[in-house]
Amino acid sequence: MGLALEEARAAAAGGDVPVGAVIVHGDSVLGRGRNRREVDRDPTAHAEVVALREAARHDGIWRVLDCTLVVTLEPCPMCAGAIVNARIPRLVHGCDDPKATAVLGRCPLRSSESCGQMGRNYCNGHDQQPTVHHPD
Ligand SMILES: [Zn+2]
Repeated sequence: MGLALEEARAAAAGGDVPVGAVIVHGDSVLGRGRNRREVDRDPTAHAEVVALREAARHDGIWRVLDCTLVVTLEPCPMCAGAIVNARIPRLVHGCDDPKATAVLGRCPLRSSESCGQMGRNYCNGHDQQPTVHHPD
């Protein structure tokens, strides 16, 4: 979470909303990202997506298996979908985002048969058994 917070501070220094993310595999950091919407003028440049792109380049495949994504703020629906599509099995988020929870509480992933189990677990976790982990 410390590295994710460093990324969040860098995002703020660049004029973006302070959100940071890292993707770790064991002791290795495969991807780092910070919110870059303002800097890149890209509405999809959320910290999680930036980190996922870097991690996918690291291994040369789009599946980011056996990793943990650590992000400072609860993911939005776009990032939750990207996390599911990348096959990230574990998500740790720092603080809750009431907007994301409100949206994900009605997330279409929760009832979709085409989405992976992680997506269903993630979306259902907001009002049932949480599968999202908070750091101590
Ligand atoms: Zn997002």
